[in-house]
Amino acid sequence: MDIRKRINELTDEVNYHNYLYYVLEDPVISDFEFDKLLKELSILEEKYPEYARADSPTKRVGGEPIEKFSQITHRIPMLSLDNTYSKEDVIEFDLKVKRFLNLPADKDIEYECELKFDGLAIELIYENGLFTVGSTRGDGITGEDVTENLKTIKTIPLRLIDKIQKPLKYIEVRGEVLMDKKAFKKLNEQRLKDNMPLFANPRNAAAGSIRQLDSKITSERNLVMFAYGIGEYSEELRFSTQFELMQKLKLLGFNINKETKIAKNINEALDYYEDIAAKRESFSFDIDGVVIKVNDIKFQEKLGELSKTPRWATAYKFIAKQATTVIRDIIVSVGRTGVLTPVAVLNSVIIGGVEVQRATLHNQDEIARKNINIGDTVLVERSGDVIPEVVKVVKKAGGVVNFQDSDYKNSESIGGRGNYFKIPNICPCCGSVAVIDGAAVRCINELACPCQIKASIVHFASKRAMDIEGLGEMLVDKFVENKLIKTVADIYYLHFEKENIEKLEGFGKKSIENLLNSIEKSKNIAYDRFIFALGIRHVGEHIAFLLIKYFKDIEGIKNASIEDLNSKFGIGEEIAKSIYNFFRLESNLDVISKLFAAGVNPHTVVSEKTGQSAVSPLYGKHFLFTGTLKNFSRDTAENAIKEKGAIAEKTVKKSLDYVVAGDEPGSKYTKAVKLGLKIIGEDDFMKLLN
Ligand SMILES: [Zn+2]
Repeated sequence: MDIRKRINELTDEVNYHNYLYYVLEDPVISDFEFDKLLKELSILEEKYPEYARADSPTKRVGGEPIEKFSQITHRIPMLSLDNTYSKEDVIEFDLKVKRFLNLPADKDIEYECELKFDGLAIELIYENGLFTVGSTRGDGITGEDVTENLKTIKTIPLRLIDKIQKPLKYIEVRGEVLMDKKAFKKLNEQRLKDNMPLFANPRNAAAGSIRQLDSKITSERNLVMFAYGIGEYSEELRFSTQFELMQKLKLLGFNINKETKIAKNINEALDYYEDIAAKRESFSFDIDGVVIKVNDIKFQEKLGELSKTPRWATAYKFIAKQATTVIRDIIVSVGRTGVLTPVAVLNSVIIGGVEVQRATLHNQDEIARKNINIGDTVLVERSGDVIPEVVKVVKKAGGVVNFQDSDYKNSESIGGRGNYFKIPNICPCCGSVAVIDGAAVRCINELACPCQIKASIVHFASKRAMDIEGLGEMLVDKFVENKLIKTVADIYYLHFEKENIEKLEGFGKKSIENLLNSIEKSKNIAYDRFIFALGIRHVGEHIAFLLIKYFKDIEGIKNASIEDLNSKFGIGEEIAKSIYNFFRLESNLDVISKLFAAGVNPHTVVSEKTGQSAVSPLYGKHFLFTGTLKNFSRDTAENAIKEKGAIAEKTVKKSLDYVVAGDEPGSKYTKAVKLGLKIIGEDDFMKLLN
């Protein structure tokens, strides 16, 4: 047997099957047969190392660790793309392209659209078909030589496939190295077991895997590479569009993402963005937007570059929902149910165009699980109108390694673990004892804790409850501190205190009149909102609505037994008990009769006990709003449907009847699309209402 010939055959064959398997995902031999070929090759290479080729697939397992990376200067700088975040910016990009090309504004320009990968940008050099040098993007001019590490990635060809395209003398191929989400999760789980610092996200994990000196480690990391462009190349390679170039690269052995598509004009490119945004979460790897490239290469050449970015491409990025910042302080506030809520005071940071200074830490368990303390650098996420939250610690204060999501209660001894903020067991508001109650820590001084009293009055007056305009936190503080209000009922007796209010700082006659007017106005209120305003523990807007639907009025609810409450609409026993107990407390009944005596007059929206009477076809329908509406605030929109007996939901679920989408809808929209829910715009929503 001619050993050298056999080694050559095996090398080519294994490389080709590797391409079929990893790039085309269309293998023609079984894993077993593949392993057999590879085994034969490695045995022969071991015996006859002089015949082993540079592009041998056996090299993919990594070699000896190296001392340090050498620097590589890119022949053509690796530019970064201009980022856009809005539809308007993308349309402006299209107009600019046409202006530069001297084309009329209404002419269609064809674009090649692709995913914007959130990984590590690299460049691969092939000389006479052989992969010789691979480098990181670095600062765009100079990167690090990571050839040995890149060789271990199976979607990077060690030799260009020459079955279709004639071998090229020279080409620089550019792309992104990624770690898929599953591999990332597995890697972090293993590192947790091994007491190693965790990677914050798949991008960091991919970058960390490439930029380390032992290629054997890289080979274990399950990385993938997608190609999306080229640097310098020899003239045998011909193509007239970006899309054609991508197809050629695929024939040469590179992994091209399946979502790469042609858009006939900028509107189709915008549709592409919507489509990708909607299924973003379903990809096995992270992306942070889409890239829109002028498809015609002649146009690309004419457009050229503008200092650091090409004029012929733009990255249309998803709006960032997360940012890192430092926790300056942790304060504990006391809510109306006495729960001590920890809140992180942050070094101010902009997330998705909004300045964020505070984030909720939820409760003690969450703080412990995430191991959060003052001074830590944290990842903060903001979504929609919800209070931002701390997702995780990126770096502990003092640079201590952090561990998360582990069985923290049993691992206090691990470095850094256990160094988290502890909620005090004394109410910071009234000084009385705070006890652990499930996941919460609660001040037990229910009736006299000034924070609880204030918070329940603020809740009562709030927009979604009695909607008393002008009676916010600051005023309530003042009134409670000056003993003008002790319970919510006292609000309706404030007109007897006019003179005393005038003595308070910052009150003019006019502002007092305004306040008293809006208090008067609030007396006429839908019954379910009145029930919600009372602040019965566990009774949110939805349950308040159901209570009125089934029990008609306060007498009906008061007379219901726990079993009644339980059986009527299947609320849990805890909620039923809470409602029942509320109406057994003399002080609560006192407040309610004082409210009625003052003329508070809740009227029933649902006029009959059976719930049949409501005339609106919207009765009993479940709605969810996302995005900004032109003619409604979120509150007025929700009130509008509630008046018709419909229910406003906060989370996306299958049972929704309508999802109303305004401008710039968020992740809820995406979810709704995925679930195949009925989504309507504002115009249709208005029609429904009328
Ligand atoms: Zn207290």
